[in-house]
Amino acid sequence: MIGIKDIKIDEKEEKLEIREDEYIGENGLPYCKKCHTPRAGAIGTDGKIRRFLCECQAKEQEEQNRIEKLRKEKEYIREIIRQSALGKNFADCLFENMVVSDTARPVIDKCKSYCKHADEMLKNGYGIYIYGDAGVGKTYLTACMGNELVRLNYRVYFTSFNEITRNLKKNFDDNRAKEDLLCLLENVSFLFLDDMGTENIKNDDSSAWLQTTIYEIINRRYTAKKPIICTSNLKRSELQKPIPGSNQSRTANYEERTVQRLIDMCPMCVELKGENMRLLHAKKAKDDMEEILKD
Ligand SMILES: [Zn+2]
Repeated sequence: MIGIKDIKIDEKEEKLEIREDEYIGENGLPYCKKCHTPRAGAIGTDGKIRRFLCECQAKEQEEQNRIEKLRKEKEYIREIIRQSALGKNFADCLFENMVVSDTARPVIDKCKSYCKHADEMLKNGYGIYIYGDAGVGKTYLTACMGNELVRLNYRVYFTSFNEITRNLKKNFDDNRAKEDLLCLLENVSFLFLDDMGTENIKNDDSSAWLQTTIYEIINRRYTAKKPIICTSNLKRSELQKPIPGSNQSRTANYEERTVQRLIDMCPMCVELKGENMRLLHAKKAKDDMEEILKD
């Protein structure tokens, strides 16, 4: 039984005419042939007979609303992605366009497989930490992963701590904008953090805010058991704040608690080795061009 409150009024029709998929009930009102519930009745205070949706129509309407809501959500996510670094520079990074060298192939295959098993990765909060020399294509590779996950309808956000802190500083007085960003970073299914360790954290109190911000973002993901996919020129051990007096030339000055979380969150830590991607792409372009200019 549906109560008056649940009845959805069909305003389109003024006059009551029996339609093909209806029959007239004992009370003289139209009923749905499929679900046998009325399509009109005296609703409202004036006692006028008005059309409303039968149970199956109401269900269908709800389904349509649900689909529309999903569509809008997806559109919103696309917009977010368009605004993120991934949208601006890496929209065309796709696994099928990637020039793969033999040394890089094992890691690239792992990353492809990660996307294939995204559901399980998400459920377990498993992330990946990818490190390697500058120019080997870490960002390109993770952009391919990001685009692939978007294609598979996951919510993805691609950013870096440099970009996050720039954003937070820009919105320093706007708590709403700040909280919106932190919420997004916490809730998105797959968070990509590019170029970790380049934040120029000083090994003194002047960087306390940056240290805390980085920790907080990592910790929110950790607590929510959501995966992060990181790239860095540094090994994870090189991210940690150095012991005073030790060699500090190649450390990112992350706090120990931050690095500990990162290790827990990224059970897989892989080194991407390979030729410089830019040179590889330049060589491919040159070969392509020579092929075109042959005759
Ligand atoms: Zn019906």
